[in-house]
Amino acid sequence: MSTVEISFENLLVSGYGDDPDEDANGRLPMSRLGLDEYACVHGTIRLMISGRRVPHMGLFGPDDVCLWEWLAHFHEAQSAFRAEPNARVVVDAAHQSEPAFVWEREEETGFLTIAACEWSGGVADAQWQKIPFLVDDFFTAHARFRAEAREFILREAPHCGLEWWDDWGGGRFENDVPPTV
Ligand SMILES: [Zn+2]
Repeated sequence: MSTVEISFENLLVSGYGDDPDEDANGRLPMSRLGLDEYACVHGTIRLMISGRRVPHMGLFGPDDVCLWEWLAHFHEAQSAFRAEPNARVVVDAAHQSEPAFVWEREEETGFLTIAACEWSGGVADAQWQKIPFLVDDFFTAHARFRAEAREFILREAPHCGLEWWDDWGGGRFENDVPPTV
């Protein structure tokens, strides 16, 4: 079994509470995706490390994870890992009350720590201190997640999916990440 798995489901466009098409969670269908005010895609993004689900990724609970934010987040971790075999990067909170995520690499082993973030007020998680995984598993899971997310966006929002991916999605990072899957 892989020590890192990343999957998603129920990704929808974030609304502003003022549109009759919004569901009970304030989400709009992917057909409403846009390149400006309707560019935010949220849903369930599940990061599993050695069989445990990583908490504190969502804004308002575990099913409110920002796709844009986490594409950038995973990219930051991967870039640090690719740069050298002993690496450490702190991916700071993007929002109020979120913790920081510390990604470390010691040769073939990676570690994830959920740490306090001063500006956001996010607190450390005692259950998530230096949890080990295999760096190669992270690379594989990340590449698959990106490929699946891209396919989803292009399929569910064909009217602007490709532009969205280039502007907001993983397209911004394409040159930095050699495909491994
Ligand atoms: Zn968002």
